[in-house]
Parts: sequence; structure tokens; C-alpha cells
Amino acid sequence: MDALAPEKDKKPEQEHKLVFTIKEKCRVCYTCVRECPAKAIRIAGGQAEIISERCIACGNCIKVCSQGAKVFRREIDPVKR
Ligand code: SF4
Ligand code: SF4
Repeated sequence: MDALAPEKDKKPEQEHKLVFTIKEKCRVCYTCVRECPAKAIRIAGGQAEIISERCIACGNCIKVCSQGAKVFRREIDPVKR
């Protein structure tokens, strides 16, 4: 099925978080906010925050962010590589 679907052994609190913003890298340029087809990104606390309940994990924000501030969870989770 969907290759991006969460695996069943994820920690419950991370279950819906498929995409993350790396706070330190985000320059709040609003590009991802504009480009998100699901309107799942908002600016909060000086960074682009993903509303995980809305995110469809299309990966578009990862593509459009010039700062490399958006990553899939599995890329920052070494055990899942
Ligand atoms: S595109 Fe990248 S740098 Fe711009 S607001 Fe989104 S996460 Fe931040
Ligand atoms: S992965 Fe897609 S749906 Fe999720 S926040 Fe990024 S652009 Fe929006």
C-alpha cells in the first residue's frame, strides 16, 4: 500500500507525525505554507509547524523548502532506516 504509511511499531505519540520541521533550519519563508495542498502547515513559535492531523505526507513541503528544514520522520529516525 502506501509506502509512507506508519509502521505498526511506532511510538503512539509519533503515530501521525510523518513529516517534521527542523526548527533551527526554518527561516519562516512561508513557501511550504503556500505549497501544502492539504493546508497542513502554519507558522507558530517562529517556525513552520505541521498540523499532523491534516498532513497527507505528500512530501511537497520537503521538496519546496529551500532550507532543507522539512524531513520525513524515517529520515531522522536511525532505527527505521
Ligand atoms: S519552506 Fe522551509 S524555511 Fe520556508 S517556512 Fe517552510 S520549513 Fe520554513
Ligand atoms: S507532506 Fe504534504 S501535506 Fe504534509 S505538510 Fe508537507 S506539503 Fe503538507
